[in-house]
Amino acid sequence: MIKDLPKHRGLRNQLVATIKAKGIEDDSVLEAISKVPRHLFMDSGFIDFAYQDKPFPIAADQTISQPYTVAFQTELLEVKPNDKILEIGTGSGYQTAILIELKAEVYSIERQKELYLLTKKFLPKVGYVSKKLVFGDGYLGLPDNAPFDGIIVTAGAPYVPKSLLSQLKIGGRLVIPVGKNTQVMTLYTRKGEKEFDKHEYGDFRFVPLLKDSNNLGST
Ligand code: SAH
Repeated sequence: MIKDLPKHRGLRNQLVATIKAKGIEDDSVLEAISKVPRHLFMDSGFIDFAYQDKPFPIAADQTISQPYTVAFQTELLEVKPNDKILEIGTGSGYQTAILIELKAEVYSIERQKELYLLTKKFLPKVGYVSKKLVFGDGYLGLPDNAPFDGIIVTAGAPYVPKSLLSQLKIGGRLVIPVGKNTQVMTLYTRKGEKEFDKHEYGDFRFVPLLKDSNNLGST
């Protein structure tokens, strides 16, 4: 297995400087980015590019998100130690690892079985232990484990699933990119049983949050 070497740490420090220059301010988020060895989360063909601020292909035609985007969403989530966080779209597990670095209790759902199995095996091997990884449909959230302090959606949602809003604690935050071709980063904060604040934070581009679950369980 490829290791984490001083050269990788150096490249991560440069990456932190890059995303800081792009506007990320939260020190705990920057520190998490400086710690997670992104090159270990990527397919071997792309390892040399791991510390560029770009998304890259992973298994099952999906992507590992751009570090700036990961940092941006994580900053909006305002994670505190011991927060219970639900992630939709485990993918490579990179965002999951960032949340674990922030000492969150992480639940994460992935709908591609291949990725789910790969990442479930991989994350503990590199020292990142989540609370629960689930193979399933993120549109449904995880009602049995709700409510959550924060929910982060890492795929482009054509609309905001009501089930996710309903699984937030009062004061909890949902960070979700909303839209079809491009997405607007949107933050919902639960103010009361039926009351939510909404703020929008500019355009991003994600792989789609897939709706049909025909393939679930078939591989
Ligand atoms: N957080 C990931 C980003 C992966 S890209 C990372 O850091 O690598 C988005 C992921 O969302 C993909 O793995 C995709 O398979 C998954 N996804 C798409 N639709 C989904 C759904 N309905 N439920 C759960 N996961 C979904």
